[in-house]
Amino acid sequence: MKIGFIGLGNMGNPMATNLAKAGHDVTGFDMADVAVEGVTLVGSGAEAAADAEVVITMLPNGKILRAVADEIIPAMQPGAVWIDCSTVDVDSARAVADQAQNAGVLAVDAPVSGGIGGAAAGTLTFMAGGSEEAFAKAAPLFDIMGQKAVHCGKSGAGQAAKICNNMILGVTMIATCEAFALADKLGLDRQKMFDVVSTSSGYSWTMNAYCPAPGVGPQSPADNDYKPGFAAELMLKDLRLSQQAAESSNADTPLGQTATALYEQFVEAEDGLGKDFSAMLPRFEKRGRS
Ligand code: NAD
Repeated sequence: MKIGFIGLGNMGNPMATNLAKAGHDVTGFDMADVAVEGVTLVGSGAEAAADAEVVITMLPNGKILRAVADEIIPAMQPGAVWIDCSTVDVDSARAVADQAQNAGVLAVDAPVSGGIGGAAAGTLTFMAGGSEEAFAKAAPLFDIMGQKAVHCGKSGAGQAAKICNNMILGVTMIATCEAFALADKLGLDRQKMFDVVSTSSGYSWTMNAYCPAPGVGPQSPADNDYKPGFAAELMLKDLRLSQQAAESSNADTPLGQTATALYEQFVEAEDGLGKDFSAMLPRFEKRGRS
């Protein structure tokens, strides 16, 4: 199949390579100077999209996505499929899907979970929004780039699922970190804390699979000096998207709001930039009550 791939950064680069390795004819474009194994690079997004049966985008944010949409949709063939894997605001996802539909292009918003490791290993999870027809055409490519794809509903539903999941993740990580910091102050051994909570009602993915305490639980970024993993600034981006969506849909999300404010402070006013999002634990450790 002829595939155009636009946005060949940390995630897009290995995803495009996996498609090429599976035998697809992949043409790519990125604004930055990149090299991508198995992919033929061209000089613009429109060029990459022009005669592709499927176009995939993996871009930083909704503003850039809207600009790229303006460029590629007029260049695409009617009946072609556009899969946007970027994490963006729900409103942008819906706006570009409408624009695509008006041009006869089948659009799917399909943000991912699984990070750079999952992109390289081809084990991402896709959360997809769009018509049944669009999802069915995208599904074989999801199978190459990932291990699971869930059709969540119509356009924007993939982004909605992604930000709801990551709002839970951000809130849970903070809860896990503050509980460890409290346990420290109460003189409770971290390993004992893990042994109890990981098998009790306080268990969670952040405790059991991604424990923020070094040397405790399975290997995680905490065991590698909090190198990401999933960077605190990316968590902040997703939490902000959750609050933007909560604003525009009039949803009450007090814990999401607090988590956003804490990650904002951590990334912008403290030393969180460039650290894994689980580095909230040393942050809480250093602090007292006031
Ligand atoms: P990245 O910054 O490494 O890659 C984005 C790429 O888009 C860059 O190479 C940039 O040059 C390119 N780009 C920007 N504007 C462009 C344009 N107009 N035309 C063509 N290319 C353009 O980011 P990433 O880590 O690959 O993340 C991409 C998306 O995936 C983001 O929306 C992010 O939130 C999401 N995501 C990332 C992770 C992760 O762990 N990195 C995990 C899940 C989801």
